[in-house]
Amino acid sequence: MRHRIAVIGAGPAGLTFARVLHRHDHPVTVLERDPAPDARPPGGTLDLHAGMGQLALDKAGLLTRFQTLSRPEGQAMRILDTDGTVLRDWRPRPGDRANPEIDRGQLRDLLLDSLDVQWGRGVTRVVPGGRDGVLVHFADGRQERFDLVVGADGAWSRVRPAVSPATPHYAGVTLVETSLDDVDTRHPDLARLIGDGSVAVYGVNRGLVAQRNSGGHVKVYAQFRAPLDRHANPDRHLGLNQRTNLDAGGDTGLDAGGDTGLDAGGNAGLDLADAEAMRSGLLALFDGWAAPVLDLLRCGTAFVHRPLHVLPVDHTWAHVPGVTLLGDAAHLMPPLGVGANLAMLEGAELAESIAAAPGDLDEAVRAFEEQMWARAGRWAKMTAAGLDRLVSPDPAQAIALFDEVQSS
Ligand SMILES: Cc1cc2nc3c(=O)[nH]c(=O)nc-3n(C[C@H](O)[C@H](O)[C@H](O)COP(=O)(O)OP(=O)(O)OC[C@H]3O[C@@H](n4cnc5c(N)ncnc54)[C@H](O)[C@@H]3O)c2cc1C
Repeated sequence: MRHRIAVIGAGPAGLTFARVLHRHDHPVTVLERDPAPDARPPGGTLDLHAGMGQLALDKAGLLTRFQTLSRPEGQAMRILDTDGTVLRDWRPRPGDRANPEIDRGQLRDLLLDSLDVQWGRGVTRVVPGGRDGVLVHFADGRQERFDLVVGADGAWSRVRPAVSPATPHYAGVTLVETSLDDVDTRHPDLARLIGDGSVAVYGVNRGLVAQRNSGGHVKVYAQFRAPLDRHANPDRHLGLNQRTNLDAGGDTGLDAGGDTGLDAGGNAGLDLADAEAMRSGLLALFDGWAAPVLDLLRCGTAFVHRPLHVLPVDHTWAHVPGVTLLGDAAHLMPPLGVGANLAMLEGAELAESIAAAPGDLDEAVRAFEEQMWARAGRWAKMTAAGLDRLVSPDPAQAIALFDEVQSS
């Protein structure tokens, strides 16, 4: 008997799960909220690790195609001091394919290929426990039943409440993302600064990172500590000019007001609708940094606000027959280069577990969850500690973290 299996979400987790299940000749229904694959910008580049994302692609039969698309040269990493001095300059060795980069859009298309995704099918609620399976409610009012519903619907999962009351909380750090196009032609000096991979600069409780994507596209991330809601934290309005508070670390709020134009709410006091106000606010936040570094912000186009949210590092749940979670829905953690890798590996492993024990679907899911929770818990702790060091009162901590990663 074929089980009715649905995966909610066509991100890295959901698509990898569906691909591997298909490879084992098991049908799966993929339900995605977006109306089309290209309905919104796919986001920046991802590095896929040899034992994680690449292993998942191997299980999906896609590793060779990934190798032709990915950019091993994108593993290059340079760290500058705030005055522009080069502190570190790592280049990948010839043949090093440990963590090559791939654009998210390319990865999505690779995974999608001939998969039959139902687009425009936003799920609102999942109700387990019915005699004829788990009931899925859709935004358009329709309902469907399945034997297994896999929630791969990301940070703000609508499936998660069926198994767990946990919701993401703000991690204390906000990213503001901007982009450069045709960098080699339009901004050759910045192209040289960034090199083939990434460049990062760390200061007190803040950093700037630029990452090359394919086709001369660059994503720039300004990252800083700020309270999420200034109204909820009125006593944290220290003012950026109050250096002693910031340098001492004080609380973690990089809270700014006064003459800087930044007053650091969840939007860091920045007017998100006004790109020029956003740019000048960010330039004030990074005031005093080397001109070529600030050009990353001066030349950026649109700005996207990304306050970082996380789930508790030890997030698990009492097993619920017929429903499980993968990827960010299960273990949202700071973006330190593992989220998509874990999401894909979990997708592949759950599919293989199901394929290996078709007679006992529930036992396959239960065994998978135990394995996922243990591994994700370790990564959640590591990435939380990593974020503390990357956006830290002591910028030397960020460099020390990279030294450790590069030497491991
Ligand atoms: C700035 C940044 C940089 C990052 N860099 C890296 C990196 O280099 N390497 C790395 O491994 N990770 C990285 N990550 C983390 C990575 O992006 C995530 O961990 C990964 O995308 C999680 O995959 P997912 O499939 O679980 O969820 P998502 O990618 O969030 O996909 C969820 C899917 O579900 C759909 N969906 C949502 N709600 C519903 C609903 N109600 N009904 C139906 N569909 C729904 C969404 O539209 C989406 O398609 C980064 C994250 C950020 C923010």
